[in-house]
Amino acid sequence: MSFLKEVDPEIWNLIQKEIDRQEYQLEMIASENLADMAIMEAEGSCLMNKYAEGYPFSRYYGGCENVDEVEKLAIERAKLLFGAEHANVQPHSGTQANMAVYFAILNPGDTILSMNLSHGGHLSHGAGVNFSGKFYKIVHYGVSKETEMIDYEEVRAIALEHKPKLIIAGASAYPRIIDFEAFFKIAQEVGAYLMVDMAHIAGLIAAGIHPSPVPYADFVTSTTHKTLRGPRGGFILCKEKYAKIIDKTVFPGIQGGPHMNIIAAKAVCFKEALQPEFRSYQQQVVKNAKVIAEVFKNEGFRVISGGTDTHLVLVDVSIKGLTGAEAEKILEEAGITVNKNSIPFDTRPPRITSGIRIGTPAITTRGLKETEVEEVAHYMCEVLKNPDKEDLRKKIREKIREICKKFPFYKK
Ligand code: PLP
Repeated sequence: MSFLKEVDPEIWNLIQKEIDRQEYQLEMIASENLADMAIMEAEGSCLMNKYAEGYPFSRYYGGCENVDEVEKLAIERAKLLFGAEHANVQPHSGTQANMAVYFAILNPGDTILSMNLSHGGHLSHGAGVNFSGKFYKIVHYGVSKETEMIDYEEVRAIALEHKPKLIIAGASAYPRIIDFEAFFKIAQEVGAYLMVDMAHIAGLIAAGIHPSPVPYADFVTSTTHKTLRGPRGGFILCKEKYAKIIDKTVFPGIQGGPHMNIIAAKAVCFKEALQPEFRSYQQQVVKNAKVIAEVFKNEGFRVISGGTDTHLVLVDVSIKGLTGAEAEKILEEAGITVNKNSIPFDTRPPRITSGIRIGTPAITTRGLKETEVEEVAHYMCEVLKNPDKEDLRKKIREKIREICKKFPFYKK
C-alpha cells in the first residue's frame, strides 16, 4: 500500500511517471547518477524530522543521541575514504560547500582565480549571475586553444599577475585529469589558498582512479550525488587547522539545521564507496566514457581535447551542422538524455551552445559495459547525423527501451 497514493495521488502519479522515465530512457547527463535503494531508504527515513543545530555531541536541541551517532559515522567514513584530516558533512549542496569556504577565508572584494565557466568551470566559481561573481573579484584561466586542456603555465602567469587570495581547481565539463600538484605549486608561489572542487570526479578519486587533491589543497569541496552515487548534497574536507573556521562558517554562518536524513544517506554512500566493488564500478565508468569518445571520433565528430580520462565526453556537434540545443532535443526523442554544453571558445550563447556533454555514471550503474555502450554511442551518432529523420529516432527509441529492459534499475 502506498501512503502517498492515498494522500496525494497527483504527486504519486508524477513520481510513477518519473520512475518510468528513469527506467526506460538512458540517463547520460554527466552530473547525474542512480543512487540505490539503501541510500533512498536512509534519505526517506524518520531522521528528516529531527532538528540538530550544532555538531555531534554539541547541539542546540535535545533528543540528538541517534543523529549524533549518524553524523559521527558520516564524518569518520568521509575522512577514511579520502584520507582527510577533517570533514564537514552538513552543506546542503555543492554550491553551499563552496560558499562556506569563501566565507571562511575571504572578504568581499578579494580576488579568486578559477576556471572560465565557458571552458568547463562552475557557476559557483565566480559567474556574474552567482553570489560568487557579485561578492568577489574574479579572474579566470581557461584551456589552451590547441590542446583544449588546462595550460598550467598560463594559470601561473595569471596568478603571478593578479595575486589571488584563492585559487580554485575543479570543473563541471573538463574531461581530463587535473594536476593538483601543479595548482598547489602555483598557489604556494603566489601565497594563495588552494580549493579543489572535486564534485564531478569525487567517485573516481575515492576509487583511486583520479589523483587525490587532499594532500595538496587547503580545502576540498564536493557534492555526493555525481560519480560518488549518493544523495543530493555537499561536503567539505580540510586540514585540521581549518576545522573550526569551516565548521563555524557552515553552522551558524550560512546554514541552520542540518538535514539528518541526507547526512545518514551520505554515510551510506561513503560506506558503499569504501567497498572493493566501487573501484570496479568507477573503472567501468571510465572505460565506458572512452568507448563513447572513440565512437564519436570515428564517426567524424570533434571530441574536445581528443578524448577523455574521466566519466565525461564533450562533443562539438556544430561540425554536423547542429547546435547543442538541437542535439539535446533529438537525442531525448530517441530515449537518450544528455545536456547541451558550451565548448571552449564557443561562439554560441549558453542556451544554444555548440556542444553536448555525455556522461557514463548512471548507465554504468545499470550495468552497461563496453559492448552495449558502443551500440548506444553508434545510435547517438546516427541520430545526430540524421536530424531530419523522425522515424529513425522512433526506431532507435525502441532499441534503447530494449537495452533499458535488459539492464533494469527500479524494475528488477
Ligand atoms: N561544483 C561543481 C564542479 C559542479 O559541477 C556542481 C554541480 O553541477 C556544483 C559544484 C554544484 O552543486 P549543487 O548543484 O549541489 O549546488
